[in-house]
Amino acid sequence: MTTIGFIGLGHMGLGMAANLAKAGGEVRAYDLSDAALAKARDAGCVIVAGAAEAVAGAEAVITMLPAASHVSGVWREAILPNAAAGALLIDCSTIDVETARALAGEAVAAGLRAADAPVSGGVAGAEAGTLAFMVGCPQDQFDGVKAVLAPMARTITHAGEAGAGQAAKICNNMLLGISMAGVSEAFALAERLGLDPARFFEIASNSSGQCWSLTSYCPWPGLVPSAPANRGYEGGFLTALMSKDLKLAQQAAAKVGAATPLGAQAQATYALFEAMGYGQKDFSALLQLLRGRVAEL
Ligand code: NAD
Repeated sequence: MTTIGFIGLGHMGLGMAANLAKAGGEVRAYDLSDAALAKARDAGCVIVAGAAEAVAGAEAVITMLPAASHVSGVWREAILPNAAAGALLIDCSTIDVETARALAGEAVAAGLRAADAPVSGGVAGAEAGTLAFMVGCPQDQFDGVKAVLAPMARTITHAGEAGAGQAAKICNNMLLGISMAGVSEAFALAERLGLDPARFFEIASNSSGQCWSLTSYCPWPGLVPSAPANRGYEGGFLTALMSKDLKLAQQAAAKVGAATPLGAQAQATYALFEAMGYGQKDFSALLQLLRGRVAEL
């Protein structure tokens, strides 16, 4: 039986750890929150008293934490000093590329293996075991990473060397943030021009404006049944998380001198929406800001 240390049992981590336990691994789980620990115990994990204890003797260690500061702290204080020789460390949180590369380097220097493996698929994907993982690690270690992630995954793609998983994640989410803002603007304009939204949806879905934000996750209510727009923009992918990912993309762009004017505009727009108090709404609720209907949210 594989022993896996799992640190960070929040919205995403809990379902992920539960799926690893269901697949037969011994999951030694830790979180700062007692409530999260209790849920993990109910889901079949072995609860431990600290991150160092979760790591001791584990063949693989997974972190699913809010941001880079939490990941660096836990890796440097608890994981790197306590992991068994040769253990595979996988960070699934969304963090900046530079930190991911630095931590991987420190792990290798300590005789360990490391991968960054951020995810797409949200809380529903974490619970269902259908996440899409984007992995940064040496090619010859990818099969080992894949074997650990498999019970939580629908797809596992090797993006490249250390940090490449995070690079893929922030580029994808920058594209998503821009495309959702574009679809929302198009609906807001269509409405002002007197177009029936359903008619516009049908036309754009079959024209060159077609994209995932329109046809799989439409921000206008009533057009794509599974979209958060049909449940008051609850659940889904929070505006606060989109805002975080767009900020990471802008920081990365500034570091390498990439021109991302639409990414910058999207970041400012979602940050404004978050600052207005809508950070806990799905990011597609941006449509209602653009329609001037934000008070109805
Ligand atoms: P969350 O805030 O719900 O969970 C984070 C957990 O980490 C919390 O339970 C917290 O108590 C715990 N934690 C914080 N510091 C800790 C420490 N030092 N030791 C142990 N536990 C600690 O966050 P989430 O929504 O689960 O997201 C986790 C990561 O996944 C983030 O980086 C996020 O950007 C990314 N992500 C989230 C989603 C989503 O839809 N929620 C989707 C894709 C990626």
